[in-house]
Amino acid sequence: MPDTATAARSRIFHELDFDKPGKQIGYLRVPQSRDGGAWSTIEIPIAVINGGKGPAVLFTGGVHGDEYEGQIAGARLARRLDPQSLRGKVILLPAVDLPAALAGRRMCPIDGRDFNRCMPGDARGSFCQVLAHFIDSVILPQVEVCVDVHAAGNSMEAALSTTMHWVDDPKVMQRTRALAENFAAPYNVVFWGVDEGGTMAAAAERHGALTISSELGGYGRVSVDGVRVAERGLDNVLKGMGMIDGKPDTSQPDGGRTRHMEVRDQKSYLFAPSDGLFEPLYLPGQRVSAGERAGYLHFIEDWARDPMPIDFRIDGHIWMAPGSGRVRKGDVVAVIMRESEGV
Ligand SMILES: [Zn+2]
Repeated sequence: MPDTATAARSRIFHELDFDKPGKQIGYLRVPQSRDGGAWSTIEIPIAVINGGKGPAVLFTGGVHGDEYEGQIAGARLARRLDPQSLRGKVILLPAVDLPAALAGRRMCPIDGRDFNRCMPGDARGSFCQVLAHFIDSVILPQVEVCVDVHAAGNSMEAALSTTMHWVDDPKVMQRTRALAENFAAPYNVVFWGVDEGGTMAAAAERHGALTISSELGGYGRVSVDGVRVAERGLDNVLKGMGMIDGKPDTSQPDGGRTRHMEVRDQKSYLFAPSDGLFEPLYLPGQRVSAGERAGYLHFIEDWARDPMPIDFRIDGHIWMAPGSGRVRKGDVVAVIMRESEGV
C-alpha cells in the first residue's frame, strides 16, 4: 500500500486509484512553474492495469531519454494489456524522465540531472528529485517486482542483456536470476556499476522488490532486436509470475538459453587514458583476451602524435562498446563481462 503520509508530502498530483480494478491511463503531474505558465505541470505518462488478486509489478522505461526500447515496449504493453485477463497489478511508466525522452537525451533538460542517480529523491528538490521521491515513496512500496528497461544510450552499445546487482542474500540472488531467465535476454549480467546507489534498481531493492534492469541497445537509435527482446521479456515476466496465461518463451537465436555473466573485476572497465577519437576494434558480445588490442585513440588535430593503442586487461566478452567517436580522458571505452561463476 502507498505510504499516504509520505505521498501527502509529494508535490506531484494525479487522478489514479492504485487499488481500483480495470485499466487507468493517465499522468503524474509534476508542478513546473515557468514564464508564461505559473501553474504549469510536466505530465509523466502512467498506466495502472489492475486485474484483481495477484502480484504487483512495476515496468519502467525512459529513465534515460536516449534509450528507446523500453519506451516503445512499455507503452505498447500498456495499450494492449487487458485487465480481464490479468491476475494482479501492472504499473507502467514508459517514459519516466519525459523531458529527457522528448529531447532524446540522457540528462534531464529541466534540471540537468541523471534521473537514475536521483533515487530516493527529495519532495522539495528539483524536477527529477521530486519525481524520484514520488516513485520511491508511493509506487515502489506497492510492488513485488520491478523491471527497469534501459539501453546504452548515445555513447555506448550493449550486448543485449538483463542486469542485476550483487546482493547479500543468496536466496534473493537466486530468485532474481530466475526472474532474469524468464525475461530471457541473450545475456544476464550481474554487476555493481559506478555510482549505483541512486538508481531505480537500487531503490527497488531497498523496498524489497525483486529487481532486474536491462541493456537492450544503444548508439542513440532504436535497436530492432532490443525492442523484440524487451516486448517478449515483459510478457515473459508476467507469464512466469502467473499473471497472464502462457509459458515464457525463453528460446535464443543460437538455440541455447540466457547466458549468465558477471562484471566483478575493476579491470573489466577500460578507460580512455586521454581525450581523443576512439577507434574500437570489436563489437558487443565478441570474445576478447587480455593483452589483445581494444582499439586506438587518434589525435586527429596533431600529426606529431601517433594513434595510442589501448589493450584489454582481462579475458571475456564485450558487454559495452563505445560508439560516439570522441571520448574524454576517464570515459569508459569498453566493459568486459565474463562467464558467471555461479550465484
Ligand atoms: Zn539507462
